[in-house]
Amino acid sequence: MFDDLYQEIILDHYKNPRHHEDLSKSGAPYLENPTCGDSVALRLEWDEKDCLKTINVDNRGCAISSASGSMMSQLLLGKTRGEVEELCHKFIAIMRGEEKNQLDQWGELEALSGVIRYPARVKCATLPWHALEKAL
Ligand code: ZN
Repeated sequence: MFDDLYQEIILDHYKNPRHHEDLSKSGAPYLENPTCGDSVALRLEWDEKDCLKTINVDNRGCAISSASGSMMSQLLLGKTRGEVEELCHKFIAIMRGEEKNQLDQWGELEALSGVIRYPARVKCATLPWHALEKAL
């Protein structure tokens, strides 16, 4: 599914998830992907200019869903609400094959390009983004 470089990036994010926080006591809802057993919760905070000031991700799942959430948090931090919404919808559309794959312009998220061919794993990769969609 992945070449070595992509594999390395995904494993790095899986082992050292960025902006990870245990949100089990925060009341944030966990979104689940029953086909794989992944679950994820998010906490977002916006500043007075409507830029994303804080994003915490609680990933409890496979390497693909965890890495996707970790890379998502890196990409979105500091972005405006409008930019976050646009990126969210675009990423989901790309992963579903509804839009041309331009993940080569998405930094480390390019590592998830290989997932697009595997519908079951697409659900893993998009789970944190669906949680984001709900939180927006
Ligand atoms: Zn998964």
